[in-house]
Amino acid sequence: MAYVGRFAPSPTGPLHAGSLLTAVASFLHARQADGEWLVRIEDIDPPREVPGAADEILRALEALDLTWDRSVLYQRQRLDVYADAVRRLVDQGLAFACRCSRSTIRAQTAEPGARVGYPGTCRELGLPADDAAVRMRVDAPWDSFEDGLQGRYDAPRSAGYEDYVIRRRDGLPAYHLAVVIDDAFQGVTTIVRGHDLLECVPAQRHLQAALGLPHPRYYHVPVLVGPTGQKLSKQTGARAIDTRDPSREAFAALERLGATPPAELEGARPAELWAWAIEHWDIERLRGVAAIPIGD
Ligand SMILES: [Zn+2]
Repeated sequence: MAYVGRFAPSPTGPLHAGSLLTAVASFLHARQADGEWLVRIEDIDPPREVPGAADEILRALEALDLTWDRSVLYQRQRLDVYADAVRRLVDQGLAFACRCSRSTIRAQTAEPGARVGYPGTCRELGLPADDAAVRMRVDAPWDSFEDGLQGRYDAPRSAGYEDYVIRRRDGLPAYHLAVVIDDAFQGVTTIVRGHDLLECVPAQRHLQAALGLPHPRYYHVPVLVGPTGQKLSKQTGARAIDTRDPSREAFAALERLGATPPAELEGARPAELWAWAIEHWDIERLRGVAAIPIGD
């Protein structure tokens, strides 16, 4: 099967060293496999989005010679597709409308012996799905799965296996739903993304099965962490990639991924660095690594 990989940022801020690391790892892995590398903008959470961030991310990828295949997919343009899937899952009895507020759920789950996570309150109520959240029914513990880098993953028992939300109360699709539908729509075979998303896989595999979609292969690469051990993000003060010095940014990303180019390539155009890196890429160097500390 031909390899299709992807980089799928949310436009919540500019590309920074942490998101660049994931972009580079997924790019190199796809190119080494002679595969396609797609870019998808996951713009389905307007309250968290920053105007202009999507364009800024794309311009940064271009400045870094991280060239993608096909046209960029914007999730905002696919809301009808997600809504159809929700309707189908409700009709099939695999999902149900839920009117619980966060505080009701908190109160219910605080009772001794209560189920972890969502207690199933609305499961059998047959509420109309129009202006309610929609949850998937989850009747068995999560399946374990084999990550390409992190090995066998079993969801911690404390995480439970709750009826997760696939459509929010405000009508917007939940992250799991949009991701799973679009990975299948774009024919993505292999997902290389940050370790912080490892815990999302059990629910996403559950949803793939419910929708009759194939399970892609997963490789969860380490995330960059700051001095306090927190994942590097806009919230923790990560600075934007310096697009005036793309060579240095590209070189630094490769070093962090354990793929240090020879000294004579220092200052070379990113495209030249990638050409070297595709040839020397060995994802095994990241096996079992969850986080890479960044000096500041
Ligand atoms: Zn409920």
